[in-house]
Amino acid sequence: MPFTANRDYKEAPRVVASAAGMYYRDQQGREILDGTAGLWCVPLGHSHPTIVRAVQQAVATLDYAPAFQMGHPAAFELAEQLIAFSGHQFGQVFYTNSGSEAVDTAMKMVLAYHRVRGEAQRTRFISRERGYHGVGFGGMSVGGLPANRKHFGNLLGGVDYLPHTHNLEKNAFSRGLPEYGTHLADELERIVALHDASTIAAVIVEPLSGSAGVILPPKGYLKRLRELCDKHGILLIFDEVITGFGRMATPFAADFFDVRPDLMTTAKGLTNGVVPMGAVFSRSMIYDTLMQSPAGIEFFHGYTYSGHPLACAAGLASLQVFKEEKVLEHAQSMTAYWEDALHSLKGLPHVIDLRNVGLIGAIELESIPGKPGARAMAAYKQAFAEGVLVRTTGDIIALSPPLILEKQHIDLLFGKLHQILKNLA
Ligand code: PMP
Repeated sequence: MPFTANRDYKEAPRVVASAAGMYYRDQQGREILDGTAGLWCVPLGHSHPTIVRAVQQAVATLDYAPAFQMGHPAAFELAEQLIAFSGHQFGQVFYTNSGSEAVDTAMKMVLAYHRVRGEAQRTRFISRERGYHGVGFGGMSVGGLPANRKHFGNLLGGVDYLPHTHNLEKNAFSRGLPEYGTHLADELERIVALHDASTIAAVIVEPLSGSAGVILPPKGYLKRLRELCDKHGILLIFDEVITGFGRMATPFAADFFDVRPDLMTTAKGLTNGVVPMGAVFSRSMIYDTLMQSPAGIEFFHGYTYSGHPLACAAGLASLQVFKEEKVLEHAQSMTAYWEDALHSLKGLPHVIDLRNVGLIGAIELESIPGKPGARAMAAYKQAFAEGVLVRTTGDIIALSPPLILEKQHIDLLFGKLHQILKNLA
């Protein structure tokens, strides 16, 4: 099992056998409320009939088409619709099969872009402590979670890290975005001064860090990063693998924060998790620049399964559901109730922070000395046993339900968590 201590895994694996809407079912038919939308990837709920039908039809019509030198209608149609979903903030998309591949693709695209412009010396990347950008060598190298890096020797050189913005002393129990820490974006100036802007290719950040345990950007922080990138001719990449497709009740986090990156990496909700797919969104200036490269293939990169017909069908059907069922509007209508429900856990034993934005929540628990993560893991196991799926990173419980949830699901989720945390050792 990935990201699992397999050797130590003595218990029988938790197994889910089917899913519909807000719920998984195990092999005995027991319902488990999905408090995490799978791994943040099922915004529209499970086994949505529109998506199921679309994929069934696609596999019966065109099972596979090579993506090199040719294509199929759904790949181009999906690209058009994704650009429209972004409010035409971007001009092109490039398909991958996962978030990790989207990150590595975006990094290569940035390097190729600078080369064509005659700035081949712009090769450094700047990311952030505690950032997570997948498991490819590019993404791992700009990643800022030590556990993900330390086993694998030398990674890409030329990466610097902005400080993370997690600060319990100043920001604990903030509702929505924290107030303190906007100035941490100015650290970019220090890094730029150290290397000279002419050597820096791009800044890559998650608009909010998910895998690190839901670390929210302080108010104004991302706008400041954008300003500084513009000042120094540095491209800005938002890794929206978890925040894309409605998590903040806007199409992308970029819309929520009103900051336009130059490139955006996405995956997960792109196909509602039904068929693996990622996509890099790029501003037209990147495409137009690459088109000026010397004759031949402009961007020497791609995957056998880029724009896979089944993934495209799932992507098109997902966008249809977003539109027809007004999913973003519904998500927005739930955010205040969600925030209140989360913050009702304040005062429970060991709860040292509660964080929320959009339909995202985090409960940070005080660690047991010498046993980091043990307390949250105990809560996770108990929640699953009692029919609620949550997710943990260290001693943080992260919540990211399907966007279609109703108040009754919020009540069930936080009712269970209240009970579990009240009695947690
Ligand atoms: N970037 C971010 C911000 C992510 O959260 C993730 C996955 N959780 C990835 C990249 C990697 O995506 P994948 O697992 O699809 O490779």
